[in-house]
Parts: sequence; C-alpha cells; structure tokens
Amino acid sequence: MTLTIPPDLLPRDGRFGCGPSKVRPEALAALAAVGDTLLGTSHRKPRVKDQVARLRTGLAALFDLPEGYEVLLTVGGATAFWESAAFGLVEQRARHYVFGEFSSKFAKATAAAPWLEDPDVIAADPGSRPAASPAPGCDVQAFTHNETSTGVMQSPARLDEALVLVDATSGAGGLPVDLSAVDVYYFSLQKGFASEGGLTVALVSPAAVARIEHLATSGRYIPTFLDLKTALDNSRKDQTYNTPSVSTIFLAAEQVEWMLASFGGLEGAVEAQRAKAATVYGWAQDRGFAAPFVTDPEARSLVVATIDLDDTVAADEVNKVLRANGVLDTDAYRKLGRNQLRLGMFPAVDAADLSAYTACVDWIVERLVP
Ligand SMILES: *Cc1c(COP(=O)(O)O)cnc(C)c1O
Repeated sequence: MTLTIPPDLLPRDGRFGCGPSKVRPEALAALAAVGDTLLGTSHRKPRVKDQVARLRTGLAALFDLPEGYEVLLTVGGATAFWESAAFGLVEQRARHYVFGEFSSKFAKATAAAPWLEDPDVIAADPGSRPAASPAPGCDVQAFTHNETSTGVMQSPARLDEALVLVDATSGAGGLPVDLSAVDVYYFSLQKGFASEGGLTVALVSPAAVARIEHLATSGRYIPTFLDLKTALDNSRKDQTYNTPSVSTIFLAAEQVEWMLASFGGLEGAVEAQRAKAATVYGWAQDRGFAAPFVTDPEARSLVVATIDLDDTVAADEVNKVLRANGVLDTDAYRKLGRNQLRLGMFPAVDAADLSAYTACVDWIVERLVP
C-alpha cells in the first residue's frame, strides 16, 4: 500500500537533502534566461570572468570580508581542497577536530601525506564535538564549521599561532563566523549556496596568503592542479586554472545576491536559520516518537537537523513514503546507521516548507504506527 499525502500538507518544494541542497527555481530560471549567451563561451573572456567577479564581490559583501582578506577559487570541491591544503597550507603538522565523516576525511588526507608528520587528532563521538585547545608543534588548526554527517556545529577559535582552517562547506552562509579569528574559510557551493558541485571558495587571510607563497617556493613538490599559489594568481584575475563549471559560478552568484537582498547580510541570514532550526527541533521535542540526536542544544546545527525516531517508527519507512510523495533525501548519513531523519535547512529552504515537512511526518506516523 502506498500512502498518498494530502496535497495541502506537502511542502511547495520537496528538496531537503544535505548535499546537494535545493537549487532555487528562480536562480535556475535566471540561468536559463542567460544560458545561450553565457554557457559555451570562453572562461578567459569578459562574459564569464564578469560572473566570477560578481561571485567574488558578492561573497566579500556577504561576509563583510576583513581588510586584506581575499576570495580564492579552486576547481574541485572541498575534497580536492583538502589535498591542496595538505600540499599548500600545512607546513609540518596539523591539529584536526574529528567528530564525523567529513572532519575525519581531512585528517586522513594529512595522515596520508608522506611529507607531513602524523596529524594530531582530537576526536569526539558522533553527535558531540571535541573541545578546541592549543596545539604545540602544529602549524594548522583544522575545524569543521558544520559536521554534515551528524548535524553538529563547532565554532572555530584562534588559540595559538597556527593557521585556522575551517571547512565550512555546509555551514557557510547559515552559521555565524568571526573571520578575524579564521585564516582559511573554505566551502563547496552546492550546500549553503544552493549551486552545483565542482568549485571551492576559500576566504583567505594575509597570513594564509603568506603561508601559500612560502610553501610554493619551499621546494616541496606540489601538483599544479592542487597548487594554491596558481589558484590565487588566477583568482586575482577572476579566472580559474582550468575550465570551471560556469553554471556553478552563475547559480552561486545568484544565491549570494538573493541572500544579500533577502537578509541584508550574514547576520540576517543566520537569524532566519535560527528561526527555522527552532521550528524543527521544537517539533521533535514535542513528539513522543522523536528527539533531536544532538543532546547539547548549543551544538545543534542551524543548517542540518538530525532527528532520532524511537523504535516504534522506522525512519526508512517514513522516508519511503516521503520519497513516493516527492519529499526527498532526508535519510540519515549512511555510515552513522541510526534510525534517524536528517534534513537540510539551508538558506534556500523555505521556513514554511520545513513546517510542512514536520506535518507530513506527523501524518505518516499516524498511519504507520497502529
Ligand atoms: C559535502 C561536504 C564536503 C565534501 O564536498 P565536495 O564538494 O563533495 O567535495 C566536505 N566537507 C563538508 C563539511 C561537507 O558537508
């Protein structure tokens, strides 16, 4: 038997994935409107370079970029950026805070780099976060602003002389950040910026630029594709080293301008996220069959909600009905293996649609549980 959710309960847009995120239909329409004069044209010529400039300028405004910071673009997502960082930002040893799948992957990348010392890893159980502390002997402190696999956020902090690197792939644009305490704030564009994959933005401090320039001339072998000095030289000319996805650039620029127009800046965007998160976590706390997975309210993500269900309700069954009704991608992170719903609440996702999502789950649970 398939359950048909009454149409008036359904969200207007059924995309709640944690990566990629919903792409706003208005942004897609804007791309379609310029597509035949933009896509398929040279990325070394003004039309495309103007879009890169538009993205870089928009991000500088949204993040109120501190004096001397620059917007760097690299081809390849955050996964490629971890390799770039192992080559071009870590001098000898990195401290990593590991509390889920994504934070562990960067630690694995520096552990695998034969030119670096073994990383100094501070780990916490999924659903919690490790406490940050000074790391003697480390020249990088690696944070993850939002651990997408568990829905836990961690604020970066400057605790010593090390460069502060923050993987903000899912957190950027939705979580507050004090960039003066950060040297490299990097993120792919298919989550908080509602675009497509394949490109990474890094907001870099003067100290990070100095480290990049130092390591580029240190004699260390660095593959050109992963070389941050090459990326920096190209970004300054509103280009990338090799061919980028122009639609990724365009959709991200649309999203940044929409965020500036809708929320005025990052602070306003974060306020909207707080309200959405309160709706979803409040709903879970009010239901006997559900509870937020993250027990510490301060650590609960404003962009990715993880909601545990009790034994009477199988999340797989709930997700099956949701999917059949066009409400998509709210499965728990596969390796976490919990009876859980995980939903993206990124800036592009409407508050009303999140309320509709909770109403749909209520409706399903009433029918699945006798
Ligand atoms: C999705 C994600 C990544 C991986 O991004 P790709 O663009 O697929 O490489 C890395 N870190 C975090 C925190 C993520 O959410």
